[in-house]
Amino acid sequence: MGFLSGFSTDIGLDLGTCNTLLYVRGKGIVVNEPSVVALEKGTNNVVAVGEAAKKMLWRTPGDIIAIRPLRDGVIADLETTEKMIRYFMSKVLHRKIFVKPRMVIGVPSCITDVERRAVIESAEKSGAREVRVIEESLAAAIGAQIPIFDPAGNMICDIGGGTSEVSVISLGGMVVTNAIRLGGDEFDSAIVKYVRSVHNLVIGEATAESLKKKVGSAIAEENIERMEIKGTDAITGLPRRLEIDSVEVREALQEPVNIIIEEIKRTLGQTPPELAADIVERGIVLTGGGCLLKGLDVLIAKETGVPAFRAEDPANCVVLGTSMFFEFEKGDKKELSLYKGL
Ligand code: ADP
Ligand code: MG
Repeated sequence: MGFLSGFSTDIGLDLGTCNTLLYVRGKGIVVNEPSVVALEKGTNNVVAVGEAAKKMLWRTPGDIIAIRPLRDGVIADLETTEKMIRYFMSKVLHRKIFVKPRMVIGVPSCITDVERRAVIESAEKSGAREVRVIEESLAAAIGAQIPIFDPAGNMICDIGGGTSEVSVISLGGMVVTNAIRLGGDEFDSAIVKYVRSVHNLVIGEATAESLKKKVGSAIAEENIERMEIKGTDAITGLPRRLEIDSVEVREALQEPVNIIIEEIKRTLGQTPPELAADIVERGIVLTGGGCLLKGLDVLIAKETGVPAFRAEDPANCVVLGTSMFFEFEKGDKKELSLYKGL
């Protein structure tokens, strides 16, 4: 796509609480890895990043720590975030590049100015020029191919790992936006809590996550699905197996799911009536990995009375949006439409 314009985004970065995605112009999504860094204790040297580091989470020996530096939507650990950005950039930037790439980074809208500046600086140190940071809601909407230039209300709800953002966009700008520090991670910890209190079994977050993905749902389904898990008995301290079904997982997920639905309702309540009328017509678009929970679209529609549907490839919307940002900023609808299917 390089021939299209000299003013395009060369690199798009989705700095998610769970997953980091990098888009390189002409190549597509080249990095899609967990936002995890493993460090050597004491020296803080990077031992592993991404997939390799995620395998070390909760399993590290005493001298290595694995960190999710963006875990709750805030950059808890700036230094480690920088290391992570640098690592991923070094994977895609080769020394033979003479012109520094232009870069757009999507970040949770609740990060502070200090964090924002730090992200820009570390991207610059990693070899980018003209680094821009945009709210992930906006990026998600662009990436979901929502006609955001229209003088009409569009609602986007991005459910990530540590954060969820609900925004109303019209004429290319955000009219209302609400971000909460709750997302798919909270679904996992709700499952951990449930299994512990109902079955006296202590399980890890990774086990809870796979329960959520395999048998989790937001609404009652006809078929009850089951999955065997392993954990540690809270009383005897011994390892034990247990079968959990989808009804139990749904019960466990009820509370965090409701918080997200309340947030959507609250945002609808803050939306000017004309735009709200558009949203009723156009529906709520869901993005982010968290929206992949089975039946969540149906439940949101039922609870709000507004149609809700998942974007295509919901987990890729933010990074695709960052890759189109400069065209978006120019209001270049023609170029934006050329990205369809890239
Ligand atoms: P972030 O942008 O914060 O990095 P993502 O958009 O990558 O987050 O979403 C990560 C969240 O999506 C995690 O909590 C993960 O467990 C959840 N997730 C991914 N796939 C599914 C699925 N099939 N069902 C339910 N949740 C899922
Ligand atoms: Mg995200």
